[in-house]
Amino acid sequence: MKAIIHFDVAAVVLLLILLYTVISRKMTKAVPDKIFISLILITLGSSAADITAILLDGYAVSPEGTEALLPALYCSHSIYLILHNFTTVLYLLFIVSLTDTWHKLKNHWILCSLFWLPITVITLIIAVNPFTGILFYFDDLAYTRGALFPLMYAVAAIYVVTAICYLVCHRKLFTMRKMASVVAIAPLLAIAMIVQYFFPSSTVEMYANALGLMFASMTVQTAEETIDSFTGLRKYSAYADDMKKNFVNRKYFTVILINPINFIHLQSDMSYDATTALLKDIAEKLRKVNRELKLHARLYYLDRGRFRVVLHGSYRGETETAANRINDEIKKKITICERDVELLCSICVAKCPEEIEDFKTLMSFGADFHEKIKYTGLVMHADDIFGQNQFMLMSKLDDIIEKAYVNHKFQVYYQPIYSIKQKKFVSAEALLRLIDDEYGFVSPELFIPAAEKSGAIYKIGDYVTEEVCRFIASEEYKTLGLNYIEINLSAAQCTQDGLVENILAMLKKYGVSPDSINLEITETAAAKSHSAMEKNMQKLSESGISFSLDDYGTGYSNIKRVVSLPLRIVKLDKAFVDEMNNPKMHIVVKNTVKMLKDMKMEIVAEGIETQSMVEQFAALSCDFIQGYYFSKPVPEDKFVEFIKASMQTA
Ligand code: C2E
Ligand code: MG
Ligand code: MG
Repeated sequence: MKAIIHFDVAAVVLLLILLYTVISRKMTKAVPDKIFISLILITLGSSAADITAILLDGYAVSPEGTEALLPALYCSHSIYLILHNFTTVLYLLFIVSLTDTWHKLKNHWILCSLFWLPITVITLIIAVNPFTGILFYFDDLAYTRGALFPLMYAVAAIYVVTAICYLVCHRKLFTMRKMASVVAIAPLLAIAMIVQYFFPSSTVEMYANALGLMFASMTVQTAEETIDSFTGLRKYSAYADDMKKNFVNRKYFTVILINPINFIHLQSDMSYDATTALLKDIAEKLRKVNRELKLHARLYYLDRGRFRVVLHGSYRGETETAANRINDEIKKKITICERDVELLCSICVAKCPEEIEDFKTLMSFGADFHEKIKYTGLVMHADDIFGQNQFMLMSKLDDIIEKAYVNHKFQVYYQPIYSIKQKKFVSAEALLRLIDDEYGFVSPELFIPAAEKSGAIYKIGDYVTEEVCRFIASEEYKTLGLNYIEINLSAAQCTQDGLVENILAMLKKYGVSPDSINLEITETAAAKSHSAMEKNMQKLSESGISFSLDDYGTGYSNIKRVVSLPLRIVKLDKAFVDEMNNPKMHIVVKNTVKMLKDMKMEIVAEGIETQSMVEQFAALSCDFIQGYYFSKPVPEDKFVEFIKASMQTA
């Protein structure tokens, strides 16, 4: 007898610990969480009723036992059996909630009736059992099983088997690991039932139930996978899981996508605590809007400051109001650690499946829609964004680049560079052009970073080098009297393994001497100290190829880098040049030029558009001028014509 109670007592202890961990891990909001807690509570109640029943049974058969105990005996056993039967019902409900297919049950009255029928019948039978004794009765105050006792096991089996079938039918919504974990609970319960059926005195069922729940809590109801510990909102993996289910179950839902555009920037100069406080603040604002507008929305925190608010059913009608309220709340400046922080978020409403009809598109659109459109500060709609030329272009950029490469749609243009001292054009910069059949001119400012990300930059870079070498090797070029052509190298190319070999092989192939080309690296690339880049530059430099530092004045003006790298030319960026009317900037430019000249660097002023600018830079003793004032970048034949014409007028 003692051992029997120990099993139930152990179950109570386990269940109380489980309840505490579930609540402390905030696993209380979602429907499966609520059902899981109900399962714990019902099992707890059932165990308590079992303990009471066992104690009363013992007392009843002792010398002190009297007939007066009968109502209490029936009551405790009946409560135990009713609660015990409900655990299997909740197990099935738990599985249905994991698949998020409530609507299928709710809208189907036959299914609904079939669902409740067995438990209703058995509950009624238990309720009238004190008068019929068909489930159990008391023989001389001793608990005795009745003729229909196995009926309860049959009812339990109906729910457990249905649950497993349901799970198998919806296996697409589960990972193998989760599926195995949920199924594994069933044999555990079945074994315990069999043991208890044949050995009634070993009341192991509640203990087995508690173990099963413990197991589910560790494998299925895992907070680490679902809840973000900082914000308390559901996290990325849960978002992906839920959205997948929504699409598979053909639900209508609306997602408010909140993507910050300056989070990484803010994060880089905020402490860990400040960043966490910022995220918590936004999460709280979302909760507030959800509460005040009674949206019953699901809130998610993904990563890098990205949040999601998902509305279902009739609450979708509130989307517009909700998105605008969220936008207003997030726009409010907040003070974190005595510092004003302003998080700029692109907010977009996506109706699914009307505007976004599959999981993959929702995830890829959400990943970076904010990078492909301009920030307006207004709530946007997925349809409008899809309708924007710029967005479609950015989304298809990888394909456009690939298509252009395969179909030879890339073209190298040349922009002449004028020597102030020699009063003639002495070199040119090679600039890549992409003219797409559908989107027309695509700026290198867009396709170069995209090609860097995808890795296409390497073959594109090789193409530019080859085109330039071919041009330099041509008879026509020799008549132009140019010293060299500048080729832009992107940051990724600078660190490329095999860059040196590729360039030298190309020079060799066309019989071009190394001093006929000059490689431009951007200031931002140069600022990132990278040994691979330094090695590449050193080797190329030793082979006789010179380098320019491009866009000087826009990145991190790291003088130490300028001094340590083998640079021959510095190109003052247009942004620098444009501010020349500002007296202070004039002083900066004047002294920058002087400093660079003292370091024996040659200087190109870029983006020169007017005669007066040419004069200003000539007065500062800059060496070269490049800009629309002389010529825009033009195709090879036009460039040849331009230089020839300039030679005649000289
Ligand atoms: P960059 O190397 O600084 O090139 C100068 C940019 O300024 C070019 O823009 C040129 O057309 C523009 N520009 C020149 N003079 C003027 C002017 O007077 N006024 C104005 N408003 N603009 C002027 P583009 O061709 O659009 O190229 C943009 C950037 O794309 C380049 O900046 C370079 O970083 C990159 N890029 C272009 N071609 C290549 C390439 O073949 N390889 C790599 N890695 N990057 C390239
Ligand atoms: Mg350049
Ligand atoms: Mg430049």
